[in-house]
Order: sequence, then C-alpha cells, then structure tokens
Amino acid sequence: MRSLPRCVPRIVLGLLLFRAAQAAEPFPQAVLDQARVIRERALSDDVGYDLLRSLTTEVGPRSAGSPGDARAVAWALAHLRALGFKNVHAESVKVSHWIRGEARAEITAPWPQPLLPVALGGSVATPAGGIEAEVVPMTTLAELAAAPAGTVKGKIVFFTQRMQRTHDGSGYGTAVAVRGGAALESSRLGALAVVIRSIGTDDNRLAHTGAMRIADSVRTIPALALSNPDADLLENQLASGQSVRLRMLNTSVWGDSAQSANVIAEVPGAARASEVVLLGAHLDSWDLGTGAHDDGAGVATITAAARLIGEARPAPARTVRVVLYANEEHGGQGSRGYVRRHGAEIPRHVMAMESDLGAFPVLGVASRVPLDLLPVARTMASLLAPAGARFLGNEAGGGSDVGPLGELGVPLLDVHTDAAPYFDLHHTANDTFDKIDPELLRQNVSAFATLAYLAAQYPGDFGRAVKPKPAR
Ligand code: ZN
Ligand code: ZN
Repeated sequence: MRSLPRCVPRIVLGLLLFRAAQAAEPFPQAVLDQARVIRERALSDDVGYDLLRSLTTEVGPRSAGSPGDARAVAWALAHLRALGFKNVHAESVKVSHWIRGEARAEITAPWPQPLLPVALGGSVATPAGGIEAEVVPMTTLAELAAAPAGTVKGKIVFFTQRMQRTHDGSGYGTAVAVRGGAALESSRLGALAVVIRSIGTDDNRLAHTGAMRIADSVRTIPALALSNPDADLLENQLASGQSVRLRMLNTSVWGDSAQSANVIAEVPGAARASEVVLLGAHLDSWDLGTGAHDDGAGVATITAAARLIGEARPAPARTVRVVLYANEEHGGQGSRGYVRRHGAEIPRHVMAMESDLGAFPVLGVASRVPLDLLPVARTMASLLAPAGARFLGNEAGGGSDVGPLGELGVPLLDVHTDAAPYFDLHHTANDTFDKIDPELLRQNVSAFATLAYLAAQYPGDFGRAVKPKPAR
C-alpha cells in the first residue's frame, strides 16, 4: 500500500463517502426538488377549499343511503372528471340506511328541565309515547359490567365518562367504546334506554352523534347523546341524592339497505402504472352538520393533492389513486367493498394514506414500512419539517378506511393533524364550512401531495409492512 500514490486513499475514501451518501439519500435529487415544488405550490392552491365549499354548499349532509349520499356520489364523479382525473368511476356498495327522526329528552324529577339530545346513529325508536324511568349513572362499560344484578333493569342508564381533549386523538380512542357499546350492553342487563355524555370535548349545547353497535341476537334499546352542559346538569341533579327521572322520545328507524358507491379517480403512473399509491377519505358524513371537517376536508385534501401530482412533470412513476369511500361512519361497507373488489391487485398497492382527522395543523407523520425502509419514511417526513411536522415513528395504523389495507401488509403513512379542535366539532351540527381555515386546509393538501408524490417516485420497492407487535 505504501507504494500507492498518496491520492489513492483519498479517492477510495471519496468513493466510500459517495456510496454512504447514496445509501442515506433514498430519493434522487430531482425527485426531492420536484416534491418541494409541489409542497410550495399547494400552499397557494385553493382547489381543495373550493371543492369543500362546493360539497358543503351543494350537497351538504350525506349519511349513508340518504338522498344526500346519492348526490355526493354524483357530485364526486362530476368534479373528479372536471379536474382532469383519469379512470373516474363509481364502484357500487350496498350500505345500511338509518333514518334520523325526532329526539327529545327532559328531566321530570326532582327538578324538571328540558335537554337537547341527539340520537346515536343506529338507535331504535322509543314507543310512540316515549319512555320515562329512573336514571342510573355509570361512568364506563366496565362499571356497568361490574354492577350488581338488577341495577339497571327497567331504568335509563346514563354514561357519564368525559372525553379528554388531547392533541393526538387518544382521548377519543379511550372514550368512544361507550358510544359503541352503551345500548347493547345495557340492553343485555334489562335497561329500557341509555343516554351518554357526548364523545366530544366542547362546552356548547350541541350533542355529538356517532355509530353504536347493534347485534341481531340482542334487542336494542334507544340511545341518545347529551351535550357536555346537559350531562353536567343531569349529574348535578343526581348529586342531590334524590331519584332523578328522565322522559325521552326517539323516532329514528332503520330503512332497507341502499345502494351507494366508492368513487375512484386516478393519476396514471408513467413507468410503473400497475403500482398504486392510494389516497383515501370518506364521502359520507353524519347528518347534523354538513360534514365539513368530517370528512369533506379529507375529500378535498386528497383530491387537491392528487391533482397537484397530476400536474407535475414528468408524471409520477406509479399511479396515484383517489378513493372516496362509501359509508365509513355507519358500517365501513365502502372499505370492505374496496378490499373485496381489488383483492387481486392489493399486492401492487405500495402505499396507502387516509385523511380523516379534519383540516387542522399538521403535527407529524407516522409510517408503517418494513424496518429497513425507516430511513425512507424519515426522509419523506423531513420534507414537511418547514410546516412543523415531525416524524412520529413506525406505528401508523391508517384510518378506518385504509386500515384494512394495512392489515394486509400494504405500507402506510399517517398524517397526524391536531386532534384537539377536531373533537369539539366532530359529529355535531357545528361541523360546517365556516369552521374550515383555508390556510390549514392548504397545509394538509401540501402534506398529502408531498408524501404521495414521493411514494409514487420512490425508486425502490416498499415491500410489505407487518403490523408491529403490541408492547408487552
Ligand atoms: Zn370521518
Ligand atoms: Zn366521523
């Protein structure tokens, strides 16, 4: 070695450093540059905001199986075509169809007062004259399960647990079990009806609806949600130690199942067209508001993001597919229908992302990729650092619509938005277009467009991602 010129080790060192730099940088510089162009372009692009104004103004509430749902499908097909997407089509999905009626509740003793409830989605009707009974408070389903036999028989059970307001949405995850199981579990124990403190964090007097579980084998009972102030009022009367009685009425019914559709649109890939980067959001909404944040914002975000990718030149290598899912809120039939219909090509779904947490500040990005691709995910997330977004680890779960793809091994990227303001509005009459901050919507479009473009252009393969084992 001594005989070699002094410059050789430097050349070798240089080569090694070059290789190391290549290994550390998973994307060609031109792709990173183009991703930054898309990211910045999104910040001054109002296609998403205009779409959301149109959806909330011209369609409005669109719960599964309703006339609004059918109008939303037609709206989506027309707008996706007008925006220049390819392969725009509807894939029919049979959806359950629950029809909200009138909901009323009043405290009749010890101090009579009217309340302002809403029915939970799926609640059966009360008898025509309503139900009046004594109220039994329970914090959680666990307390109900541990209660002595006969505690709730012939009574109205009131679930008092309060949802915690958190930035990561964990408060919802903890609290929502009550909404799902209150009626079913109380019914098994002979209760006449249930009321729950809303799964929501605001202090105004609008209650939050949402789906509840039903079972063919168990007679279901009516279930209403109370706003936080009304739940406080009821708790304050219970705190007197006197018997508190409630009268409630609900006229909601289940209709026959109906036809809806997943709406699909594509930006075809230029080189690896059979490989799909999927962007998902749900087209249906609850019926009380106009579904602006949940999930009109998601529909607008992914559509505007995909359109920006479609305008990029050269075109993305892989196909970017927009999927607007049917009936996320009340059965998940759109998500299951997509997996059934596209089963054969799911091995060629290279990445799935879902927008369903409102158009609030983007806080970070989580991935679920094979461990050796973590540097790739980190690089993707790092492009969102100017917006303040951090990389949040490799435990992404997708949302309820793309989560099932993740279970089948499709790699995932989750964009985490600030969940704290979201659950003030979520599933209430307050979820309307005026609550959308155009700048934050653009920030969401920017995040989805940047990440999806990088996924579509990644020169390697993302492989399959196994769900991480829960920590012991
Ligand atoms: Zn949603
Ligand atoms: Zn929802």
